[in-house]
Amino acid sequence: MSVLANMIDRGHEQVVYFSDPKVGLKAIIAIHDTTLGPALGGCRMWNYKSEEEALIDVLRLSKGMTYKAAIAGLKLGGGKSVIIGDSKKNKTTDLFESFGDFVNSLNGKYITAEDVGTSEKDMEAVLRSTAHVTGVSKNLGGGGDPSPITAYGTYVGIKASANYKLNVSSLSGLKIVVQGVGSVGESLIAHLCNDGADIYINDIDIDKMESVSNKYNVKTIDVKDLYSFDADIYAPCALGATVNDLTVNQFKYSIIAGAANNVLLDSIKHGSALMDRGILFAPDYVINAGGLINVANEIDGYNEQQVKAETEKIYDTLLNIYKISDREGIPTSEASDKLARKIISDKSKSKLSKV
Ligand code: NAD
Repeated sequence: MSVLANMIDRGHEQVVYFSDPKVGLKAIIAIHDTTLGPALGGCRMWNYKSEEEALIDVLRLSKGMTYKAAIAGLKLGGGKSVIIGDSKKNKTTDLFESFGDFVNSLNGKYITAEDVGTSEKDMEAVLRSTAHVTGVSKNLGGGGDPSPITAYGTYVGIKASANYKLNVSSLSGLKIVVQGVGSVGESLIAHLCNDGADIYINDIDIDKMESVSNKYNVKTIDVKDLYSFDADIYAPCALGATVNDLTVNQFKYSIIAGAANNVLLDSIKHGSALMDRGILFAPDYVINAGGLINVANEIDGYNEQQVKAETEKIYDTLLNIYKISDREGIPTSEASDKLARKIISDKSKSKLSKV
């Protein structure tokens, strides 16, 4: 499929290719939709096997950002960028400064941030060339590591889900499994502990799992027991696609709500399968939006209290999505996409009516 055909297929406004052989930069910026505002989304550095693979990834990721920003109530559109290269071998300050020049040439229509393969330090090099960058450290006016606020939003979303599905106002005594005890998972465990939840953890990194288990006095479980474990809530905070053909029929959980991106391997098929089994799924891009809210807040001057207040809205947003899902008999993943599209089309109509 041609680039234009791919863009039309997914509804993209603009795709820009950049090259700077002096520093070895090959990058693509995709702007999906700017109805709600400038397109914000991270810059992924990945050793793509082909240009086409990089294009498909940046198109897919930028479309996801449009929905995520809309649902989070941000005045932002969706965009993303990819740098083709090995983040362990090809990173230089010059490369990120050059990338910043290209971002700058879009005059603020695209705002970048860190993503897989890029870091706060890389964004500080980008900042030398453009103001249209977020995800920088607090001492440079940014919001710093977004993981604690992502975890807080996930905790708020777990409470909303428990309230809706189990009719409880507290997580006290609920059995909760957290898979992945990295930056987000560990911070989530701290919130769940404060609420008196009965917590079980799993991580592929055994040393980390043991140390978090000792620190918070929580139990560990083996991965072979994880998907069939008898507990109330499964909070995936490691990797995506853990709801798939192999796992979906094993679950005894009432709720799946965690920070990992793309939890459903196939959002239509596995979203429906969870609904059919009566398992409430918190759409990942809704519950993990705290990190985006954090970086978005840097644009007008970072304010931690405001970030917290905006992140708390995840509670009501999820309740609204659950009600749409029940009312219309559609999976929660479909209900959130539908709500995001409505937010964008309402804005589009109001813009047209002002013309
Ligand atoms: P991280 O790398 O700090 O932690 C991930 C943890 O998962 C690590 O401890 C790792 O050992 C573990 N892990 C990896 N594979 C595993 C497996 N197969 N089984 C069990 N454990 C495994 O990452 P993070 O920043 O905590 O992010 C966690 C998830 O949340 C990711 O999917 C990420 O995309 C998503 N997310 C993070 C943020 C954020 O602000 N950091 C925002 C939105 C979404």
